[in-house]
Amino acid sequence: RDTHPTKTVKDYIRTIVDFPHEGIMFRDVTTLFADPRGFRMAIDQMLHPYAGMRIDKVVGLEARGFILGGAIAHQLTVGFVPIRKKGKLPGAVISEEYTLEYGEAVVEIHDDAIRPGETILLVDDLLATGGTAEAGIKLIERLGGEIVGCSFIIDLPELGGRKRLEKMGMDVRALCD
Ligand code: AMP
Repeated sequence: RDTHPTKTVKDYIRTIVDFPHEGIMFRDVTTLFADPRGFRMAIDQMLHPYAGMRIDKVVGLEARGFILGGAIAHQLTVGFVPIRKKGKLPGAVISEEYTLEYGEAVVEIHDDAIRPGETILLVDDLLATGGTAEAGIKLIERLGGEIVGCSFIIDLPELGGRKRLEKMGMDVRALCD
């Protein structure tokens, strides 16, 4: 039984201090995903702004974006496409490199995963600097996908990710800051 009927999405997110290294407040959504009402609430709220809009595919960013993206795609009865870290996808891929706090990373998408003109919803758990999402947007746009929105559970506004994606013309949504 739900003893906290007025809980919000934010109430289900756990903060782990100094993970993966000192000074980072890690926003842990596994506690949200593990709760039946929390998970349902998050998926419903992420979908809400796009009601009635044409979305051909959901694209999720590794790895927590897969959990959200799978549930959202199922709810919309559309396909799901993963964007993965370098070397994980078995077929022919296109790649984008982006800058991390320390060094560089590469993300990939199958080159036949999106057809030109398909409308796409991009999802991940958290928007920080926006570097990961920006690389994902570039991959989708290189395949001719038209991004309807970028949807996150959490936005860390002080890191500027939202502004960065909005400058690229994106509609950016988050359930909480
Ligand atoms: P960024 O590319 O800087 O926007 O970072 C976003 C990616 O890093 C997402 O896939 C997040 O899951 C992860 N991430 C960054 N900062 C945090 C944080 N404070 N807590 C949890 N995950 C984070």
